[in-house]
Amino acid sequence: MTRAVSHPNWGNAPWSIDFQPAQSSMPAEADFAVVGGGFSGLSAAAWLRRFAPDESVVLFESAAIGAGSSGHTGGMVLAETAAGDLPGLGDVLAGFTSILKELSIECDLALPGVYEIGRSGGLPDPPISWTDSGVVRAVKQVPGGMIDPGKMVSGLARAAEKSGAKIFENVSVDEIDFTDSVCLRFRGGQLRTSKVLLATNGMSLELSGLAGRGQTKFTLAVATEPLRADQLESLGLASEKPFYTIDFPYLWGRTMRAGGAVFGGGLVHFKDWRELASLEIGSGQAAELIARLESRVRALHPVLQNVRFANRWGGPILIANEWRPVFAQHPRSAHAVVLGGYSGHGVAQSVYLGRWAAEVLCGKKALPDW
Ligand SMILES: Cc1cc2nc3c(=O)[nH]c(=O)nc-3n(C[C@H](O)[C@H](O)[C@H](O)COP(=O)(O)OP(=O)(O)OC[C@H]3O[C@@H](n4cnc5c(N)ncnc54)[C@H](O)[C@@H]3O)c2cc1C
Repeated sequence: MTRAVSHPNWGNAPWSIDFQPAQSSMPAEADFAVVGGGFSGLSAAAWLRRFAPDESVVLFESAAIGAGSSGHTGGMVLAETAAGDLPGLGDVLAGFTSILKELSIECDLALPGVYEIGRSGGLPDPPISWTDSGVVRAVKQVPGGMIDPGKMVSGLARAAEKSGAKIFENVSVDEIDFTDSVCLRFRGGQLRTSKVLLATNGMSLELSGLAGRGQTKFTLAVATEPLRADQLESLGLASEKPFYTIDFPYLWGRTMRAGGAVFGGGLVHFKDWRELASLEIGSGQAAELIARLESRVRALHPVLQNVRFANRWGGPILIANEWRPVFAQHPRSAHAVVLGGYSGHGVAQSVYLGRWAAEVLCGKKALPDW
């Protein structure tokens, strides 16, 4: 059964998810627990059982799989972190590609490269030339590409379940007691575990110990109705290379298999991540930012002047301090690992570092020193 991915108040993302967890009873104990059913948590859950086939794995998701950033993402695949390369990071794109292959995940991965767009310089005969407070052009091509986020969420969840991990949706972990081993508490029950991965990203910052290490924002995107091949050609998007600006205000985008183009940018700021719960895409600051994004897109090129938008949506993002993703021991326990905060660079990294997190929990690899 396929379902739309979007949170009811966060618009209509164009992706859909065709995964429903198998019904199972909640165990009282598990060897490993994962909190968060986005790309990071699902990747870790899929790998934990591969590295430790005799150990049990339980994943908790407070809403539905993909309900956070992962189901609302743009799906542009990037090689480095938002802070650039980090010591020991390794080859994210090669690792990401081989993980998708090993887990047999079909998510329309394409890696044609990504254009950086700027105001000065330019590639010879620049494929992209738009108007955005002056002329902006493709100035560089960097490694990367795109995936279909709904298919990647679904594929990772299926891989996790196939490996033997139990997935529970609509279970919000409210508290973790680290005094005597690790005890996760949720409404109506608790689960004891030896090790836990917290992959809750921009939510539950107190639980993950990320309060003070990053800021939750809400970022927005729109998708046009399908464009003709000649229109994509005029825009410089016929090669299906996604793009992002290197100047602010930030704008990124990509094409979709169905022929439309996605454009994203803008941030809603919060005092507290809990404000996500009351955010509505159709009102307040989010609605203003969507309107601004649409007029900006229409002004980019004559082809877009009267374009219709089929999708308008947004999702949470965790911008960690100094733009560095957090992949560290939980401040309160050596039995807990925290992973997240990739800013706008999480698609490939979450899957790649999710596997690394599974290796850390199994004692096969050390945490990086970021
Ligand atoms: C509009 C938008 C566009 C983006 N575009 C790109 C892009 O093009 N390229 C790119 O690389 N990155 C992009 N990103 C960022 C990228 O999507 C994220 O970095 C990535 O999806 C993070 O995955 P994650 O699994 O760490 O977090 P999430 O997907 O946010 O998963 C965390 C999960 O934890 C759950 N949770 C939270 N608290 C609890 C709790 N207490 N108990 C149980 N479960 C809990 C949440 O419901 C959520 O499902 C974008 C993000 C947005 C919002």
